[in-house]
Amino acid sequence: MLRSMQNRGADTFDYVIVGSGAAGSVVAARLVEDPGVTVCVLEAGPPDRHPYIHVPGGFIKIMFNPAYTWQFKTEPSPLTNGRAVAVPVGRTVGGSSSTNGMVYNRGQSEDFNAWAQRGNRGWGYADVLPYFRHSERRIGGENDDADYHGHEGKLPITDMDWRHPISEAFIAGAVGLGVPRNPDYNGRSQVGVGYFQRAIHRGLRRSAARMFLHPARKTGRIEVRTGARAASVLFEGKRAVGVRYLNDRDRTTVGEVRARREVILSCGTLNTARLLQISGIGPAALLQEIGVPVLHELAGVGENFRDHYSVRVVARAKGGQTMNELSRGPRLAGQIARWVTGRPSILALSPSHVHVFWKSDPSISGADLQAVFSPASYKEGFVGLLDDFPGMSCGVWQHRPESTGYVRARSRDPFTDPAIQPNYLQHRTDQRAMIGGLRLARRLLHTPQLAPYLDRETLPGPGVESDDDLLGFARQYGGTVWHLIGTARMGPATDPTAVVDDHLRVHGLERLRVVDASIMPSMPSANTYASTIMIAEKASDMIRGRSPPEAAQLSPD
Ligand SMILES: Cc1cc2nc3c(=O)[nH]c(=O)nc-3n(C[C@H](O)[C@H](O)[C@H](O)COP(=O)(O)OP(=O)(O)OC[C@H]3O[C@@H](n4cnc5c(N)ncnc54)[C@H](O)[C@@H]3O)c2cc1C
Repeated sequence: MLRSMQNRGADTFDYVIVGSGAAGSVVAARLVEDPGVTVCVLEAGPPDRHPYIHVPGGFIKIMFNPAYTWQFKTEPSPLTNGRAVAVPVGRTVGGSSSTNGMVYNRGQSEDFNAWAQRGNRGWGYADVLPYFRHSERRIGGENDDADYHGHEGKLPITDMDWRHPISEAFIAGAVGLGVPRNPDYNGRSQVGVGYFQRAIHRGLRRSAARMFLHPARKTGRIEVRTGARAASVLFEGKRAVGVRYLNDRDRTTVGEVRARREVILSCGTLNTARLLQISGIGPAALLQEIGVPVLHELAGVGENFRDHYSVRVVARAKGGQTMNELSRGPRLAGQIARWVTGRPSILALSPSHVHVFWKSDPSISGADLQAVFSPASYKEGFVGLLDDFPGMSCGVWQHRPESTGYVRARSRDPFTDPAIQPNYLQHRTDQRAMIGGLRLARRLLHTPQLAPYLDRETLPGPGVESDDDLLGFARQYGGTVWHLIGTARMGPATDPTAVVDDHLRVHGLERLRVVDASIMPSMPSANTYASTIMIAEKASDMIRGRSPPEAAQLSPD
């Protein structure tokens, strides 16, 4: 637990990183590549020893375990029919990379070019592609676009090895609808249908902690303090000099750790915003409301919050065993035996098996949606308990939501959950995309190729046809897919919504950076793990004073 919290004086390291998640794990590992450098990582959650973290199928169990996840909820809103949407994110060593769905998806070149167009130098696609490659150890990928992949990195990325006849029929059906088969959506073009690439290798989750942080601890120059909840960043004037933290269990024992060079916040989109605010950095009115003296006013802290809102079309299946049956009783025992002997098994799967990157309307060029398919279905359509009947489901969400919300501390107490309001489906564009997406998901489930396996649609069901009804269904049955971004948005000082500059330094302060998913200025057309790792790789070079690699030379389409 907390090795240095027994009323010792403050310890001093070169760097203090708050949060051992996807980003924090990468940054810590890269910083100690420089000789002699010392790093202290503060992590609110426990060590990542629970077996459900490491067995990919444990995803469903660990996600609802409050010991390993922050069980946050959004504010109830008419936009979600008055519902508060559960947003459980990782709270253990590895952060959400220890609890996520392990899908590896980078997004479209336009996503990062849009970041650069907002005045963020060095963040265009040609600039960031070398960092994606740098972290990747691509295994398999015989049909990959070779220029886009790395083979020497720390993060193993493998192909799906569990081919189910229902998934094959789904893919064939999508191709029949005109969606191209795309074996490498992380290559030149994302558009198309195929199996996901995953951060799973030899049947185990490969979290950022496992692949970056833990090996780097062998240097003896990283100290990870678990159960240490950062309560405020310490300043001398405008210079960050350390972090004050509390024992996450007893909530009273205080610790302090000081940084000779920099403090780096990698707490994730929800907690980074909250920590900045309770440290006195944020919108002045909010800080006054919660009784925190304003150290530095920054209107964008906690604002510009975006997330992917997903809705599932669910069908009862026939003519094959789906994951719903395979995950129970003697069939589960069979799957465990397969996993133990290294054969493809449901225990070693991401929850989403097949991707479809396609459009909500034929007039759109490229893809504005992600649809995901599995021969599995969940009760009420929410990822959680599997249905008792054979099922399959197709979830869908819009790539680049326009709706924005906020994360606002409710109190200066670091143990009070912040107010989280994503304003899902507020923008008319998002509503249109969702309605088009649900129609697409339905078409994908009703192809002739899938017909032998389709019994009947159970959600939303045949009565729900009009735009209004589909939108109403989405408001009632949608939920997060945990791609939380934007609350410490990167942008130039002239951008009133920006929190960090393009070196991820907090505007107006010294020796304080934010390195995590919160800095994304807009949503990539993807799940956010790969881009968070990329951000952390790039930030590490910046912190170490290393020149960035040469921009990628990409041949025109
Ligand atoms: C259930 C789930 C499924 C997902 N599935 C996928 C997927 O399949 N593919 C994909 O690409 N992305 C997925 N994501 C998203 C992806 O995991 C995140 O985008 C990524 O992990 C964000 O990294 P981060 O470093 O910003 O934050 P995190 O990885 O969440 O790390 C933040 C860390 O900081 C710690 N922390 C927070 N506050 C404090 C504090 N005050 N003091 C000390 N420590 C603190 C947390 O406990 C945590 O360990 C998923 C996320 C979740 C939660």
